Amino acid sequence: MNPSSTFRIAVLPGDGIGVEVMQPCIDVLEAAMRRVGNVALDYEWLEAGANTYRETGNALPKATFDACAKADAILLGAMGMPHIRYPDGTEIAPQLDLRFDLGLYAGVRPIRTIPGVPSLLASPRAEAIDFVIIRESTEGLFASRGKGVVTDDREARDTMVITRPVCERLFDFSFRLAEDRRGSGSGKGRVTCVDKANVFASFAFFRKIFDERAARFPDLAADHVYIDAMALSLVLKPWEFDVMVTENMFGDILSDLGAGLIGGMGYAPSADIGDEHAVFQPCHGSAPDIAGEGKANPTAMFQSAAMMLDWLGERHAAPSARAAARLITDAIDAAFADGRLRTCEFGGDADTAAVTRAILAAIDNDT
Ligand code: ATP
Ligand code: MG
Repeated sequence: MNPSSTFRIAVLPGDGIGVEVMQPCIDVLEAAMRRVGNVALDYEWLEAGANTYRETGNALPKATFDACAKADAILLGAMGMPHIRYPDGTEIAPQLDLRFDLGLYAGVRPIRTIPGVPSLLASPRAEAIDFVIIRESTEGLFASRGKGVVTDDREARDTMVITRPVCERLFDFSFRLAEDRRGSGSGKGRVTCVDKANVFASFAFFRKIFDERAARFPDLAADHVYIDAMALSLVLKPWEFDVMVTENMFGDILSDLGAGLIGGMGYAPSADIGDEHAVFQPCHGSAPDIAGEGKANPTAMFQSAAMMLDWLGERHAAPSARAAARLITDAIDAAFADGRLRTCEFGGDADTAAVTRAILAAIDNDT
């Protein structure tokens, strides 16, 4: 028998539907690991988010941050509530602090059609949507970290920051991902840089570094698309893309657009990856409009957990963790395949519990 791997997971349910999808996610993780064997997770549940701020005056207590820094991976639900804010009126978003303070520069947002989940695009090619947005997550237009400057109630400024070391790591990460995707048969060997290099010096610099790093990966196709053109292309022909890499703010916007293409925020997972640490969380926020109703679609949370197992498995040479990740992904596909599971994004009655039951059943039926 292979030696068993145990990984320490910092669990931050956060606020709103983040809390509602976390326990189902742990149930799915446990079911998958029971099937596969030889891999276990040790969970440490931690306080952070808007409700923690209201109760303690601190959205990301030091004990939580320290536990995150020590963990093998961080699993996060969603954070922030529009009605709970800092005194200066800005939103509470400790997930941004984790990205900055743990150096999680690569925001990985896979956008893939799950067969059986309808797309609003009429083309049958919508079934072939399978691309990944890499959102730079530590600088760009988010560099002010919510502390932009307003002068005399007359003028406001935020700072856009692009640095060479972060870009080099970000682009190398993107090209390596494109190589892996081509190797596994899911990719096209293409990386697209999304920018606005025709107007901004910062984006021209971003593109220049992209081209420099592209030269190191001559077997891959590297091209550029302006952000405005990409907004159009993602609606007209999203199936043509493979890996796209972009600045923080553009990535924030494009990943919501991408989620819309494949059924909504409940189908869009993400990982924020650095050289030492990584946070796995659905792209969606705390969704206060549906929080408390038990109807949030937990699929993106499960997909994010599968990304976590895959990342742990690769990093620690633990094939069982990667096998459990595949089992979860396959179970999600199996649960939606016949088109009868309809989540609230489509006005369906498959609530959090029903989706979880269907995916747990698919994990147990996997042969
Ligand atoms: P953030 O600022 O954290 O990105 P947001 O204000 O952009 O949050 P989300 O919480 O992502 O908003 O929600 C956007 C919309 O998508 C809302 O109408 C919400 O109800 C819906 N939504 C988000 N997540 C889910 C989910 N898991 N299942 C169903 N609907 C969801
Ligand atoms: Mg959002």
